[in-house]
Amino acid sequence: MFEVKPYPEFSWSLSRHKTMLTCLRKYAYDYYLSHNGWLSHADSLAKQTYRLKKITNLEMHFGSVVHDLIYQIIQNVLSDHDIPSEEAVVDEIRHHLNRGFIESTRKEHLWQHRPKHYTMLHEIYYSQTSTLPESKIKKIQERLSSAVKNFYASQSFADVLNKEHMKFIDSESFRFMKTDGVKIFVVMDLVYKDLQKDKWVIVDWKTGKSSDEDRNQLALYALYLKQKYDIPSIDDIVIRNEYLLEGNHIEYQLKEQDLINVQHLFQSSMEQMKAYLEDQKQNRPLPIEHFPMQEDPRICARCNYQELCFPSQTT
Ligand code: SF4
Repeated sequence: MFEVKPYPEFSWSLSRHKTMLTCLRKYAYDYYLSHNGWLSHADSLAKQTYRLKKITNLEMHFGSVVHDLIYQIIQNVLSDHDIPSEEAVVDEIRHHLNRGFIESTRKEHLWQHRPKHYTMLHEIYYSQTSTLPESKIKKIQERLSSAVKNFYASQSFADVLNKEHMKFIDSESFRFMKTDGVKIFVVMDLVYKDLQKDKWVIVDWKTGKSSDEDRNQLALYALYLKQKYDIPSIDDIVIRNEYLLEGNHIEYQLKEQDLINVQHLFQSSMEQMKAYLEDQKQNRPLPIEHFPMQEDPRICARCNYQELCFPSQTT
């Protein structure tokens, strides 16, 4: 039976760590105040926070639609079903983007009640208009055709097609490993073993720009894979970022030191997170005043929680 808990289970992910560093108030909203906000009898603040947490933006929405479709195409290949043409995939993505726009502009009432099932774009919600900035539309249109073309031409898709020589591991599912009793969430796009080269390959599809954090993220994936499949050496794991906008990929051969670094990061980050708990056993946070708002207005301008932090400016 589904149990309603007053506080969420304590867990760790790189995105949680990044949120804590960016804004502690956002961290509190994302990981504590929104908890249980999906329940019909939740209090109004939990509901509002959960709803706001679910807001996305055009770039993120685009990235998530592309990831979902790539996942489906790969499943088609692996189960010997037809592969859609590039044009069909472009049309499908466009359809999803249009639907997200329509839901944001005309179905806010549905999103208000079931925010997980409908799309609300930040650009629409906080501008209180029914139009998207021209520059953003242009940017996404350009990304759309290049991402699909580059996916079909990618090394990783060629490997998928060469499936007799690869052993695939179920990808895109929500996975975690446990360290010091804490769940660490790891989401990998595509994982397989290249039987000819005798190497494990972890692929990450990128629909945005590269960031300095990529290496930590990759090290976390490698750590997970090494533990899960008892892989003797990190040298047996290749990590590949497929940059779908640029049409190239970068492969990384991590070193043991990268794994040690990410473990240190995890440990110090967890210590910081625990300092914001009133009760560690229950994962009960300190009162909200202990989570200060950050002060850079450019970060707030992109944040989902403006409505909570600056109520007079957003109503
Ligand atoms: S609006 Fe600004 S201060 Fe408030 S949670 Fe977001 S980033 Fe933090």
